Amino acid sequence: MLIGVPKEIKNLEFRVGLTPTSVRELITHGHQVIVQKNAGFEIDLDDDSYIAAGAEIVDTAEEVFARADMIVKVKEPQPSELKMLRPDQILFTYLHLAPDPDQTRGLIDSGCVAIAYETVTDARGGLPLLAPMSEVAGRMSIQAGAHCLEMRQGGRGMLLGGVPGVSAAKVVIIGGGVVGTNAARMAMGMEAHVTVLDKSIRRLQELDFQFGSKLNTVFSTVDAVEEHVLDADLVVGAVLVPGAAAPKVVSRELVSRMKRGSVLVDVAIDQGGCFATSKATTHNDPIYMVDDVVHYCVANMPGGVARTSTFALNNVTLPYTIALADKGYKKALADDPHLRNGLNVYRGKLTYEAVAHDLGTDY
Ligand code: NAD
Repeated sequence: MLIGVPKEIKNLEFRVGLTPTSVRELITHGHQVIVQKNAGFEIDLDDDSYIAAGAEIVDTAEEVFARADMIVKVKEPQPSELKMLRPDQILFTYLHLAPDPDQTRGLIDSGCVAIAYETVTDARGGLPLLAPMSEVAGRMSIQAGAHCLEMRQGGRGMLLGGVPGVSAAKVVIIGGGVVGTNAARMAMGMEAHVTVLDKSIRRLQELDFQFGSKLNTVFSTVDAVEEHVLDADLVVGAVLVPGAAAPKVVSRELVSRMKRGSVLVDVAIDQGGCFATSKATTHNDPIYMVDDVVHYCVANMPGGVARTSTFALNNVTLPYTIALADKGYKKALADDPHLRNGLNVYRGKLTYEAVAHDLGTDY
């Protein structure tokens, strides 16, 4: 199969669909790969490294889309890319169609076979192609939060781990899933006092078993949120109710009573945010103040560490890319019900019920 990797064109997106390592794997499986010139330039994956892995470098996105049997990307196709997709061509990338009727229509009209990373499932009911981005965002939330605690950002002027003779900062993480676990791990590594709140007792038991007495676990109630948020120096919002907007676990009133210069990092901002005062920000302008509390609410945190995120994404997508290339989409989708859950658009038809429901159309 001929696999094509265009350069991402969404604003400030520097990740790339395939690394040179992934290219080499596909070449070893007997496939051909074409990569658009400078596709990985910003994250130090230069054209020579792709050529060494066996890829052919082509000048334009038009050539990639015109020649490839399968397009492997990171972000959803932008309008100019939608126009280049061909009937029966496989598109394997993040799509997030539910809030995006224009893209959905464009994919349907193209006749392509669109498989979305974010709806591929695994045997444990997880979303394996979304998890690495939650790992990245969770780990980043603590380094972002630590930075925000510095004076220049409006923070309380605290070092997360303190120093001998001076107390460490108190970090409170609301939601102990993938983001929360990774945040807790980083915060403990920096020697902060760390508390995780979650509605799931089972999740708290797992965290307790994993981290032992270094981590404080608390069942999340209105009382517990109030007590711990008011005492916190840094609060990380990491809740998720699958398929729903994030619940507002911290009210406007509670924010107004937090310590001056304390920090809120709302990782759940991509689902609307879990603090009442959150509004989405960007890497260019990541923070703002409400009632002397620093807010960091970047909606695409992994984009800030595009190199790490690209490798993390490739680690989980590669087995599926290889299956699609080796077997062709019909057999690959028939053989694997979890990959089949990734199918969102199939040759002119919307095939994902939740997307059809959100868009109010048939599927
Ligand atoms: P997850 O499903 O692994 O974990 C969510 C946890 O929240 C679960 O343990 C659940 O029990 C808990 N929870 C739900 N409601 C709660 C409540 N009211 N109080 C306390 N706990 C509650 O999800 P995840 O992968 O960790 O993702 C968390 C959020 O981070 C999601 O909204 C996800 O979209 C977002 N995210 C954002 C970025 C970004 O760049 N901003 C990147 C990756 C993920």
